[in-house]
Amino acid sequence: MIEVKMKCKDLQARAKVSRLPRNPEPKEWLASNLSQQKIADYKPFNFVDGEGVRCSLYVSGCKFSCPGCYNKVAQNFNYGYDYTKALEDQIIADLGHSYVQGLTLLGGEPFLNTQVCLQLVKRVRAEYGHQKDIWSWSGYTWEELQKESADKLELLSYLDILVDGRFLEAQKDLTLQFRGSANQRIIAVPASLKAQQPILWQAEF
Ligand code: SF4
Repeated sequence: MIEVKMKCKDLQARAKVSRLPRNPEPKEWLASNLSQQKIADYKPFNFVDGEGVRCSLYVSGCKFSCPGCYNKVAQNFNYGYDYTKALEDQIIADLGHSYVQGLTLLGGEPFLNTQVCLQLVKRVRAEYGHQKDIWSWSGYTWEELQKESADKLELLSYLDILVDGRFLEAQKDLTLQFRGSANQRIIAVPASLKAQQPILWQAEF
């Protein structure tokens, strides 16, 4: 009987562990090995993916496997359609409207699709400078990104805001602004890079 109880506890413990996202070693997952440069969706003129009116690009592919992921189909690197020059031109044109505040990158995992995301953010800066802001969501934390590959650090350097960290079901909170779970942070990237530590974003009212 004691043995059966112990086995049950063991199984429960394993089930609990399997309900957590994956934790990669630094540089274990590289866009150069993983990205198929596919897009799950593009949503222009939305109000939910950050501050103000935004154009949101959802890239395909993510390996964090968060239980309860809000966009599970986009975990597949082959999901969706190819990123094309025509789509990029459309995004740049959409951003040109005066009422659009900026671009948002989501997924999937933008930092595992740096080929697409870097090309786009470089063009946004070339065309609009800092008139349009750039937000990105990532399953990586700020601290993890500091130990990551050069392409991920380069993408980070183009951002204004990073919403970081995996979605954790145990910390799910639907009342949070722009986040699904309480562990996630809204980080002001330029100030954080300068301070060499994460500085939380304060909305301007
Ligand atoms: S990091 Fe985001 S996209 Fe990736 S599995 Fe977690 S919730 Fe889904």
